[in-house]
Amino acid sequence: MKVHIITPFPEMVKSIINCSILAKSQQKGYVEYYTYNLFDFAENSTNNRIDDYPFGGGAGMILKPEPIFEIFGSIKKGLNENSKIIYPTPDGQLLNHNLSKELSHLDDLVIINGHYKGIDQRIRDHIITDEISIGDYVLTGGELAGMIILDSVVRLMPGVINSKESSDSDSFSHPLLDGPHYTRPARYKDIDVPEILLSGNHKEIEKWFNKKREEKTKLRRPDLWGEYKRLKKSKE
Ligand code: SAM
Repeated sequence: MKVHIITPFPEMVKSIINCSILAKSQQKGYVEYYTYNLFDFAENSTNNRIDDYPFGGGAGMILKPEPIFEIFGSIKKGLNENSKIIYPTPDGQLLNHNLSKELSHLDDLVIINGHYKGIDQRIRDHIITDEISIGDYVLTGGELAGMIILDSVVRLMPGVINSKESSDSDSFSHPLLDGPHYTRPARYKDIDVPEILLSGNHKEIEKWFNKKREEKTKLRRPDLWGEYKRLKKSKE
């Protein structure tokens, strides 16, 4: 997958794509990242700036159309037909596992990060294909939101995470939330791990773990619990 990220703060983005799974996915050849600094294109806009005052008045600056249209124009030629051009925005579709999974199958993603009051509506109308929110709150800029979207997508790409079994048992890959995990030592500060986990009885351990997942899901997410019960019933 090729990922193009347009931002006035590429250093924010680079600090994230150069770590952990996002970096490894590039080293392993699954993903290529390209970042574009909006300020490098400011001189081609009407007032040599990346932002300007809103027409009609009101508080907050708006990211101007020219630098973003220009950068996108240079990227566009190389994009596959099924590419998604994403604008992280609080008024977009709420990000969830299914959306991340869908995006993980694409060849190209472009992420255009907003700032200040947002971006010129013409960019949203003529370039953006998908507007995605990471939650009902407002961040200062799109970089963190864009990186959250990207991280959730890249880790689902086949091969990126070594153990597929591990990502398949994560919350939202399944109607049940993930269960409790323990590691060595078996006793720490007089606190023991549950005895069943040391029994070596894999069938009983699986039963115990599933029960824990059920209890947590029922308590915390009645919506997922209902889905799980419907699914279980349809299999009976
Ligand atoms: N005026 C916008 C609104 O009320 O919908 C908020 C603008 S916000 C201060 C600046 C930028 O941060 C946005 O353009 C967007 O790219 C990003 N952003 C802020 N909150 C976000 C969220 N919850 N999800 C995704 N992106 C967000």
